[in-house]
Amino acid sequence: MRLVDTHIHLYDEKYLNSLDEVLDNARNVGVEAIICNAEDLESSLATLDLASKYDLVYPAIGMHPWTALHSLDELDEIVALIRERRGEIIAIGEVGLDKKYESGEKGFARQVEAFKKMVELGLELDKPLNIHSRRAASDVLEILGVYNVEKAHFHWFTDDEDILREVVSMGYYVSFTPSITYSKRNQRLAKIVPLEQLLTETDGPVPFYGELKGRLTEPMHVKLVLEKLAEIHGMELDELGNIVWRNFEKLYLK
Ligand SMILES: [Zn+2]
Repeated sequence: MRLVDTHIHLYDEKYLNSLDEVLDNARNVGVEAIICNAEDLESSLATLDLASKYDLVYPAIGMHPWTALHSLDELDEIVALIRERRGEIIAIGEVGLDKKYESGEKGFARQVEAFKKMVELGLELDKPLNIHSRRAASDVLEILGVYNVEKAHFHWFTDDEDILREVVSMGYYVSFTPSITYSKRNQRLAKIVPLEQLLTETDGPVPFYGELKGRLTEPMHVKLVLEKLAEIHGMELDELGNIVWRNFEKLYLK
């Protein structure tokens, strides 16, 4: 069974001293692909660097809504970098909107401007979008609809069930983190996503509760996510693992 972590931030300093060990741990449980997502110019460069060093790591670069809400100073440089390194990147990410951290109307307007630019680049370069949509999934959906985007992945979806139904009806992919092992709400959401649109992720180094309480979140923990998803969907682990891997291939490797 081939496992995949479709969203993590491996350049984070928490991984700095243990990256080789973290990647070994991942390989040992069967992880064969990890999508490292950037947030700004510096982490985009760091992500490209990691991907060139480690076969297991696939790069997604872009401008995160938390970066955009403060300033768009880096936007042009990030856009240029994405175009320049288009042959190396697997996706544009982490991009999107966030209404929990919008910092007033101006902050949200900046997020929208950056996100639209990332969407346009995705279409121009035919790259999928790895999307952050906290409390803003309907705004994200609206923009994707305007641009007629086909290749999109909503990472760690936490909005309402109704909006999730719209997301999956558009054919977009949705991933879940280790929070699914203890969050009833996330478990209910996961049930709504058709098997052909499900993906696994960790969003490391974001910390989790449950079994992972007090531990560093690593790509190997996608196995816990897959086990819970298999239970929720009443499937064999191997069977669902193969489906999730194929979903990853369909969206990101074709
Ligand atoms: Zn993230």
